[in-house]
Amino acid sequence: MTKTNIELAFYGTRGSCPKGRPEFMEFGGDTSSYTLRLGEALHLLDAGTGVQEALNEQLTPGTERVEIDLTHPHLDHINMGCAGQIYFNNVPGAIQIVGCEGTERALNKVFDGEFLWPVDFEHMGGINKVITECRGREEFQHPGYNVRTLRNWHPRGPTRDGDGGSIGFRYDVQTTEGGIYSVAYVSDMTFRYDNKGQPLLGSEQRINEFVRFVQGADVLIADTQYSEDDFAKMPFLKGFGHPALEEVIDYATRAGVKLLLGTHHDTKQTDELLRKKEQFGQEYGRSVGFQGDFGMARQEERIVAPYRIAA
Ligand SMILES: [Zn+2]
Ligand SMILES: [Zn+2]
Repeated sequence: MTKTNIELAFYGTRGSCPKGRPEFMEFGGDTSSYTLRLGEALHLLDAGTGVQEALNEQLTPGTERVEIDLTHPHLDHINMGCAGQIYFNNVPGAIQIVGCEGTERALNKVFDGEFLWPVDFEHMGGINKVITECRGREEFQHPGYNVRTLRNWHPRGPTRDGDGGSIGFRYDVQTTEGGIYSVAYVSDMTFRYDNKGQPLLGSEQRINEFVRFVQGADVLIADTQYSEDDFAKMPFLKGFGHPALEEVIDYATRAGVKLLLGTHHDTKQTDELLRKKEQFGQEYGRSVGFQGDFGMARQEERIVAPYRIAA
């Protein structure tokens, strides 16, 4: 690998549905889409409506390995059909897809060449059609870094019952300074409630697994769509498969996360509301002893690690 910095870029932080109105532009209107550049390797963390810009900017000549890491194939995470590189990448079939169980079936269903999308999945020539489906707890070794996965509970995902309905990703990168730089991305998961808003079986174990998974992460991008106040005022939201900001800060505190960025912003959350939520999260973090930094994720954000990747 060359001496390239580790760079994390944000192209879509919105959950569920894109927004184009001015009052949403500070935090952004595109849905889940991030890139993690590790030398000549490029990982796309989900492929929501920001994926077109992500590929336009990041898929530069010399990028040797491109992988789309899909938490799960709900529509706000798979807007890949709009990106030209998906059809005509310089190296046909070079873009790898890693996703949860059911990803291949879902992509073939959505990109059906007929009712839902005019081109079918088989004709997306830039993509390698051999998809790696994960159950969580996998580990993939790459030169200079490895990737681990986490099994989440997310209702109405491809596994139907919710268990394994999305997966999280963690990237541990060896740096030239001899350390490890860790980035984790976990979205569309719930720890305490099932899809009826009732207590989730095995909740404590899931929380512990999440805490272990994100332990000591330099950066954690995590779904914080709701708050405890949202759950109290609108109890039906408990069954939608997204956690409250407060609990994610609690878990990040236990895990010693250094930078937590809350994401998958609800489509009703304007910039004004998200700024308040950010301030609330920072105050809440201080009150529970969170030692790291916290912010709500903004589209266009760039985090360049002050490290180079080991050769
Ligand atoms: Zn989502
Ligand atoms: Zn989802």
